[in-house]
Amino acid sequence: MINFNKKTVASTIMDPRKGFDRNSINTEIRIDPLTGESGRLAHFGMIKIQKDDFSSWNTPDTRKNCPFCPANIETLTPRFPPEILPEGFLQKGEARVIPNISPYDQYSSLTIISREHLVPLLNFNKKMLIDAFNAGIEFFKLVSQKEPQLPYFILTWNYMPPSGGGLIHPHHQLIITAFPGNLYRKTYENSKLFYERSGNNYWAELCKVEESRKERYIGQIGRGHWIVPFVSLGVLGEYNVVFPEVHTIFDLSEADIEDLVAGLLRLFKYFDSKGIYSFNMGLFFAPVGQAENYFSLHARIIPRTYLNPFLKPSDVNSLQMILQEPFSVEIPEQLCKELAVFWK
Ligand SMILES: [Zn+2]
Repeated sequence: MINFNKKTVASTIMDPRKGFDRNSINTEIRIDPLTGESGRLAHFGMIKIQKDDFSSWNTPDTRKNCPFCPANIETLTPRFPPEILPEGFLQKGEARVIPNISPYDQYSSLTIISREHLVPLLNFNKKMLIDAFNAGIEFFKLVSQKEPQLPYFILTWNYMPPSGGGLIHPHHQLIITAFPGNLYRKTYENSKLFYERSGNNYWAELCKVEESRKERYIGQIGRGHWIVPFVSLGVLGEYNVVFPEVHTIFDLSEADIEDLVAGLLRLFKYFDSKGIYSFNMGLFFAPVGQAENYFSLHARIIPRTYLNPFLKPSDVNSLQMILQEPFSVEIPEQLCKELAVFWK
């Protein structure tokens, strides 16, 4: 049973915008149906997204200092030791997998997605993204054979500066680890509990329930179900794609990658229409060696923004950092209606 619980609380103020009349302002608190963790919806419509001017990020000078640009890639980027990859890197089309010079873990690698230094959302094409995801998955499989004791494979993407991306040149992170992070752990443990209690895979159930409720279900491409989650982790909301039949990295087919990319390209068109030009993304696979199929591949895509273009305040503040409480100004059911227009 998947429950979508929420509660509205009201704050009463004497409002200067209404001649100091009494005004009641609502906050909605929602409970994540899997983890039981809270998130809130407030400040509706308070963030006006404004596009940044990219021109200063793509000059001969910035390209000269970028290690991922074609003129520097051979001399400035690190290579893998020969026992991992004899060539020192893995190349697929424009995409190249290299080790991170500042690693986060034993295997902390990057996929440089393009030869181009700055790729605006609408300039990503199918081949570029398919090659980048395929290169990452191929690297995961290669390391899995060499290091069978490392079960977790996580692909993340910080796109553009509001997301925390330190380099404009587009790149994915590839982490192979025994420590997949707290969100993964909570999600995994609760997927296991759900399976033990109900005998069902939570992710397959979620797709079924969301599809029948028609409030947050965007549509299906191949084996991927696109959903706006009931609780968003980002200020501007969140978008998920769930592949209930895909568990580990070894279950993902080339057709699945093409379908994932097809959905992303539609999402990027929608983002661009709203002025969104930055996001965080994560692909979460079931651990290799998992006995039961209670955890399915799902991706989270979370748009990011500066709160205004002048001071460039981060959209992450003490609510998220100190209270660890997600907060969103967007109503998921409304986002679903907006995105549906781009899903035809
Ligand atoms: Zn570059």
